[in-house]
Amino acid sequence: MQELTHYLNGEHVNGTSGRFADVFNPATGEVQARVPLASTEEVAKAVEIAAKAQPAWAAVNPQRRARVMMKYVELLNRDMDKLAEALSREHGKTVPDAKGDVQRGLEVVEYCIGAPHLLKGEFTDSAGPGIDMYSMRQPLGVTAGITPFNFPAMIPMWMFAPAIVCGNAFILKPSERDPSVPLMLAELMEEAGAPKGILQVVNGDKESVDALLEHPVVQSIGFVGSTPIAEYIYGKGCSNGKRVQCFGGAKNHMIIMPDADMDQAADALVGAGYGAAGERCMAISVAVPVGDETADRLIEKLVPRIEKLKVGPYTAGDDVDYGPVVTSAAKANIERLVQSGVDQGAELVVDGRGFNLQGYEDGFFVGPHLFDKVTPDMDIYKTEIFGPVLTTVRAQTYEEALGLAMDHEYGNGTAIFTRDGDAARDFANRVNIGMVGINVPIPVPLAYHTFGGWKKSVFGDLNQHGPDAFKFYTRTKTITSRWPSGIKEGGEFSIPVME
Ligand code: NAD
Repeated sequence: MQELTHYLNGEHVNGTSGRFADVFNPATGEVQARVPLASTEEVAKAVEIAAKAQPAWAAVNPQRRARVMMKYVELLNRDMDKLAEALSREHGKTVPDAKGDVQRGLEVVEYCIGAPHLLKGEFTDSAGPGIDMYSMRQPLGVTAGITPFNFPAMIPMWMFAPAIVCGNAFILKPSERDPSVPLMLAELMEEAGAPKGILQVVNGDKESVDALLEHPVVQSIGFVGSTPIAEYIYGKGCSNGKRVQCFGGAKNHMIIMPDADMDQAADALVGAGYGAAGERCMAISVAVPVGDETADRLIEKLVPRIEKLKVGPYTAGDDVDYGPVVTSAAKANIERLVQSGVDQGAELVVDGRGFNLQGYEDGFFVGPHLFDKVTPDMDIYKTEIFGPVLTTVRAQTYEEALGLAMDHEYGNGTAIFTRDGDAARDFANRVNIGMVGINVPIPVPLAYHTFGGWKKSVFGDLNQHGPDAFKFYTRTKTITSRWPSGIKEGGEFSIPVME
């Protein structure tokens, strides 16, 4: 069996803690590798290496750092097939979807090529008599990120590309469920020209995360994953004086107005609800048709589409709409929640229970499910299922639909499908959710905008990528300067004001 490594100071290094986690092929259920789980000492070693490498990297001019990103884009494109295959093998998503995972990260790397411009400071000439004032953005030093299993290429790149181009060293603690692509990404960064130690990968679990949170040299922590862990990391990281941004779970509602194009809405729901087996933080998991007549028309359109979905291994190529979920534990959790929906009185219109794929009986496949007549008190409404389960909550009015999205504890993404510009505008203005789609089911902002939810989907202020990332990964220093003109005025004892 393959034994994976850490990536420290430009080398693959075996784990020394003696602790490992199994990495599965979710399509077959087989353990295909084991990944070392770093000890506190191994994390400390990575931090030491990063701290040594960082000052020289920060001193490299921003244009040269940007050129590393240019080269990185080229290498990612060169290795796209290899990266996507490795990603699908460990995650289970289809190859085209895995390429999208790499591509959405690559686009943030492209944005980072603009670093020389984005890092420019501000200057005020003659802020006072003979006084100039200017500010500059300086890197933090050693930064770290902890990432989830569901986007093993995109989310690490959202963190380390801006961190590195700003002049920081970055330590990535990827998900222990699919660590191979993050290791490949680190190798490529070095091939692109980043010095050794600037991007390191420490594989691990809670022990390595806690070691990063407690290490005094680590200046910032980026986290993406489930809300309870986000809350824990935010609290602990902040109390240890670090700059922290944490992105958590989701329950994204899509409102379908009576005037919506019902075929378009049904197609959108099927893609956004079941793509990647529902394992996306921007998946639509709640459909909210407005009015019973709309609901009936929508369900009628949805059922045949869902029944036609092709579920299978990534190796089956284009013939597959979505693959297995990531682990048997994830599968068991989805099955438990589906059963709770049935027990609590929701109507299971498409029943994916007992799904079996010939030749892949041990894979972690889950059939597609569609629930109708779900109510807000049910567990399948309150909880993030993270599986191919779409729930329908019928609202009688637009205000009720809006209220559902607004009252839910999560606030990552949402969408409205309508032909009425006034309704769409009202929704976008009033809803308390970070990313809104108007006839767009998965409104993931592009690299030059920023990504982030509201409410329990986020802890911290700045968003991911776009201009916010350059703020998160730098500190502002403001200088007030006066060059003596020869006239000595003596000391000043009251606070200086510009008159
Ligand atoms: P997770 O919270 O289980 O794990 C995320 C990371 O935290 C992993 O690296 C893991 O090793 C680490 N971790 C797990 N338990 C820990 C603990 N007790 N202490 C310290 N670290 C711990 O999440 P996941 O299952 O990998 O990913 C799915 C979740 O991520 C979903 O809730 C999804 O909505 C969310 N997600 C959110 C966004 C977003 O931008 N808001 C994006 C992608 C995924």
